[in-house]
Amino acid sequence: MADINESEAITVPNTYTRSILTGVKEIEFEEVPIPEPGPTQALVKVHACALCTWEQRVYAGIEKGFYPLLGGHEVSGVLVKAGEQVLTTAKPGDRVVAAMLTRCGQCISCRRGLDNICDNAWANRPKHGPAGPGGLSEYVLIEDYQLYPVDNGDVPFEELCLAEPLACVLRSVKKARVEPADNVIIIGAGIMGLLHLTLVQRLGARVIVSEPNPTRAAKARSLGAVATIDPASEDFVRRAKELTGGRGPDVIFCAIGIPAAIEQAVSAVGKGGRVMVYASVHPRDSMITIDPNLFHGREITLTGTMSQDHEDFLQAVGLLSNCIVDMKPLVSAVYPFSQLKEALEAAISPETYRVIVTMGE
Ligand SMILES: [Zn+2]
Ligand SMILES: [Zn+2]
Repeated sequence: MADINESEAITVPNTYTRSILTGVKEIEFEEVPIPEPGPTQALVKVHACALCTWEQRVYAGIEKGFYPLLGGHEVSGVLVKAGEQVLTTAKPGDRVVAAMLTRCGQCISCRRGLDNICDNAWANRPKHGPAGPGGLSEYVLIEDYQLYPVDNGDVPFEELCLAEPLACVLRSVKKARVEPADNVIIIGAGIMGLLHLTLVQRLGARVIVSEPNPTRAAKARSLGAVATIDPASEDFVRRAKELTGGRGPDVIFCAIGIPAAIEQAVSAVGKGGRVMVYASVHPRDSMITIDPNLFHGREITLTGTMSQDHEDFLQAVGLLSNCIVDMKPLVSAVYPFSQLKEALEAAISPETYRVIVTMGE
């Protein structure tokens, strides 16, 4: 249980700086009062926030419906103060990870164990002014269920903040039911493809990565992919079958949102195999065409996942706290908060995997 008296030992300023994405490639900083946590809330001082693809798309103007956005949902920091009803093992000053995507806990999706796709995820969004998870700030105020204590004091904040994307990928990998010695193809060797590679390998699967960018393909091989396919110059379906003894892979993860790649995955996957649509597809009204007899005659499954539920998050924090997976190869650059624009420019470059922003002491 958090001890309110101890929290008084941490000095908190009266105001803090937060960032707002106000338009295409436009960022503003503003100074706002530090909020006082309510009985079930916790105040967290942010130490690191990773720049996820969603914030990158909003910054670059690929997604325009969210301005003005308080971006940042991959957050690690220290607990500053917890309300009297917050039941946590973390004490003020302890390292924590904040799960910044909210869930109501009361809608039918939440009650069916699908709190990752809560019906009310945006319900309490203010009608006016900036809204959003708000991790690209010096402090965040969160609800008790969003607070995840970290056991190990040695894992850097820059890696702990990757608990959120790791949890998303963990959900995808669990739903795909990857078995030891399965043949798995991951389409796309960006950060999400490489996180899939990291987790799937630990399950004893044989992993092949499809990626046209030679640098990214080389990175996938260095992280353990047994082979790579260049979908720009090779026939993906033919190569996928050749590399899996003619049968086709047991699982294909689409870690890049290209409609044709999903169609090809459905054609390539082996009997009883699973095709996981992990990445969102843009533009959002894109359509695919697939032969329905593949579902009937080959018993394949086409499904996907979005975000993560509380169990996925807990497990991802455990994987990082206990050094079971290593995020270092995926951290491309670290920028101070004052250089957020430079950080976002670096993040949208194809040369980087994850770019992290740090908020200082
Ligand atoms: Zn994310
Ligand atoms: Zn809900």
